[in-house]
Amino acid sequence: MSSYEDASRYFHQAAGIMGLSKNMQKLLLTPEREMKVQIALERDNGEISTFIGYRIQHNSARGPMKGGLRFHHEVDEDEVLGLATLMTWKTAVVNIPYGGAKGGISVNVKELTQGEKDRLTRKFVDVIHDMVGPDKDIPAPDMGTNAQVMAWFMNQYSKFHGFNPACVTGKPVELHGSEGREEATGRGVVTLTERLLNKARREITETTFAIQGFGNVGSHAARRLAELGGKVVAVSDVSGGIWNPEGLDIPKLLDYASETGSISNFPGTDAIDNDGLLTADVDVLIPAALGGVITSDNAAEIRAKYIIEAANAPVTPEADEIFAHKNVIVLPDILANAGGVTVSYFEWVQNRQHFKWDVNRVRDELHRIMSDSFDKVWQIAEEKDISLRLAAYLLGIGRVGRATVLGGI
Ligand code: GLU
Repeated sequence: MSSYEDASRYFHQAAGIMGLSKNMQKLLLTPEREMKVQIALERDNGEISTFIGYRIQHNSARGPMKGGLRFHHEVDEDEVLGLATLMTWKTAVVNIPYGGAKGGISVNVKELTQGEKDRLTRKFVDVIHDMVGPDKDIPAPDMGTNAQVMAWFMNQYSKFHGFNPACVTGKPVELHGSEGREEATGRGVVTLTERLLNKARREITETTFAIQGFGNVGSHAARRLAELGGKVVAVSDVSGGIWNPEGLDIPKLLDYASETGSISNFPGTDAIDNDGLLTADVDVLIPAALGGVITSDNAAEIRAKYIIEAANAPVTPEADEIFAHKNVIVLPDILANAGGVTVSYFEWVQNRQHFKWDVNRVRDELHRIMSDSFDKVWQIAEEKDISLRLAAYLLGIGRVGRATVLGGI
């Protein structure tokens, strides 16, 4: 099933509970604008490569559209549309004044040199700069992109529109980025996990965790869990997984990963494969890498009681149903990983005010927004006796729907 169909399935379930009319459902699901471009790049060796890039603006009822820019070989129109849709509900769930968008280039970034990546980013900006901007649509990092890519983006955008750092978020701290943006998604994941565990009268210190993915989100989540005394027993990245039932030494693992470029062969651990990580005997599983990794093929074998969707759409709708029957609690992506876009919002606010916040202010405000959003979603789930995912959709769709009606159709 496609990414967009998956995202639509949850939307329709929630819309059914809310009694949204068919016309309103169509209005809220249909993207406002889809852009597909060809980008020709002269490689370092003189050859010409062409890539396809996308920017899809799903909904602007609540404000300028917001969402990441993904450089990955699996990027296609359907995936970008599905992810743009998720951004609309995500920004609404945490109640920040944005709509939803997403972009991407179908490219294997590992095959590009730094110079090629720089030129590719700038050529993409050349063709989309008119449709984005601080009051229209604000890109940010996602899979395969980072603060450096955002710096190139801002620099190229300024050649058309003048100095305007709020045109993109997730920039380097030295170049109008926000303190605490890089850690934000992982940190938000842990705040929410702590809150979820507290509902079951559990403490992080008495809980075991497995994390799939040790990129920006997974590594910061691991760091924060370890700081709070959580026992992270298994971690994986593209090179494979590692396991130690006594708990991994996360600060040492972070140093090791930054020195060697991967987590594999970290001393004092056993190697496990990806399936081993997903089905590890832990309390909490945190998929923090690709979408669609937990499916009807492996959901039944998963032993964790809680799944925190740090990645976008890691659990397929079929797997979600299996978890509902097994009483496994899934904290949905549109809430679980919203810490990133929330601190993107703080960055945009700081850029527009030309006033920099310190990291404690960023962390405090993030904590407040994550906690309030969790409590609202939890309350809806309890009142209506529905899953946290459906409750989050109800909250998000309700806010977008009301804004649409108030603004006038
Ligand atoms: N790419 C991130 C996401 O999927 C962050 C988006 C943003 O900061 O705008 O939520």
